[in-house]
Amino acid sequence: MKRGTYPVLGCGGKRMKTASLRILDNVIVRPQSRCWMWTSTGKRYGVVAPRGGHGYQLAHRFSFETFRGQIPKGLYVLHRCDRPRCVNPNHLWLGTQADNLRDMVAKGRHRNGTPRPH
Ligand SMILES: [Zn+2]
Repeated sequence: MKRGTYPVLGCGGKRMKTASLRILDNVIVRPQSRCWMWTSTGKRYGVVAPRGGHGYQLAHRFSFETFRGQIPKGLYVLHRCDRPRCVNPNHLWLGTQADNLRDMVAKGRHRNGTPRPH
């Protein structure tokens, strides 16, 4: 991806377009890792927007739901790139808390050996 360009978004309704633009307005795309680094400040890092009057939602979860679809209950949105601020839907995957811990342990164990995929 060239610097300053955004990926072509899939077709969607007006609501999705608005949501995706709201995400893209608040990220800086890192050219090397292609991470979408969330820049907006909020009560906590990653807080994105009011969600239908039911409080707030973390940016990476919001991004996942906008670009990839609904998050099944009980699952976590995890980062392939280990950057909590990254909201690139291609870097996000669904897992359980156990997956999350396993992933952290695995990455920690290989940190000094195996190169990261990206
Ligand atoms: Zn990333």
